[in-house]
Amino acid sequence: MITVEVALERVLAGCKSTTAEMVALPAALGRVLAEDVTARVAHPPMDVSAMDGYALRAADMAQSLTVIGESAAGRPFTGTVSAGQAVRIFTGAAIPPGADSVVMQEDSTRDGDLVSISVVQTAGKHIRPMGLDFSPGQVMLSAGTILGPRQIGLAAAMNVPWLSVRRRPRVAILSTGDEIAMPGEPLGAGQIVSSNGPALAALVSVLGGDPVQLGIAKDSRDSLSAMVAAAKGCDLLVTSGGASEGDYDIVQDVLAEHGLKLDFWKIAMRPGKPLMFGALKHVPVLGLPGNPVSAMVCAYVFLAPMMRALQGLPSRTALVPAVLGGTVRANDARQEYLRAALERGTDGQWVAIPHSRQDSAVISGLAAAQALILRPSHAPEGKPGDTVSVMVLPEGF
Ligand code: AMP
Ligand code: MG
Repeated sequence: MITVEVALERVLAGCKSTTAEMVALPAALGRVLAEDVTARVAHPPMDVSAMDGYALRAADMAQSLTVIGESAAGRPFTGTVSAGQAVRIFTGAAIPPGADSVVMQEDSTRDGDLVSISVVQTAGKHIRPMGLDFSPGQVMLSAGTILGPRQIGLAAAMNVPWLSVRRRPRVAILSTGDEIAMPGEPLGAGQIVSSNGPALAALVSVLGGDPVQLGIAKDSRDSLSAMVAAAKGCDLLVTSGGASEGDYDIVQDVLAEHGLKLDFWKIAMRPGKPLMFGALKHVPVLGLPGNPVSAMVCAYVFLAPMMRALQGLPSRTALVPAVLGGTVRANDARQEYLRAALERGTDGQWVAIPHSRQDSAVISGLAAAQALILRPSHAPEGKPGDTVSVMVLPEGF
């Protein structure tokens, strides 16, 4: 059996990034930039005032000046400021030609057409020069950036209304099992509801993909075969169940009939030993265990990094250090992921408190978990205060 680390390397090597597509700014949220983005305009687009006050020449400080006009935001003054003159100006308004300083209105006294300036200040004061933020032609957003609200705002300020982003990976999700029913269906004898399908689809969405629910295949070659065929055109196929060594675990066989190039199908991990990876006509296939906790823990460990790779993002460690808030037994050879609650300790550090029930069939425990404590193979018994690595499961994830 290969280790989680080796399995992850092999899985990521099998994921190529999707092609690029153009989307309008509102649709770019959460997408990954496929190309550098260059500013089309300067920001600010001209020298502008940072204050409400008077635009004048720095040489004319501490004097009484003639007010010759007004420059408001969007309505610039068209004349030129000469010696002994000032222009009433407002925040964001263009600095009129001739002026090289702005005096705050608090530092002036207005009397009809005259204004007396009570301060002495140098040229450039309270002026935001053209291009202070960026100039045309400057690359302000780089390929590989995940676009959040601030990056979308920056693109808008650059006067760029469309962005080239990675196409959302289309991820086919196939649940398997004669006993599995759709949520909400009346349950027959021996049936259980599919929690994997909806959970995996939701995870794919959170991770920036478009889930394509293929449905629930029966444990028969015909049923599986028909549904596998429907994964055509997807960037990734994820199956759940049917991956162990029981009589009805035929997912691998059926995929092989479709031309699966198997990479591995067992890893040293708990929960989730029967994890399969391969490629079906160049489309990566991730075969998850059917057990709902195993399926989801494997999805967090493998599917999440795969979704990054499919969007052209580099892999990154999902682990952070935490203080153990309970006792955990010594581990065997399989790297283990324990469901845990997460708290902030008095010094601001994470404290991970392992759930007392680690049964991999307990879905409610996984839903309540805020972190997974990683237990390396052969880790000795862990006591409160020990440092452990955890994968944080933030709200909404
Ligand atoms: P299998 O790998 O098919 O033997 O499934 C292992 C366990 O996971 C069995 O108890 C199945 O009933 C359960 N299981 C399989 N698929 C799902 C699913 N989509 N939703 C919930 N439980 C499932
Ligand atoms: Mg099954």
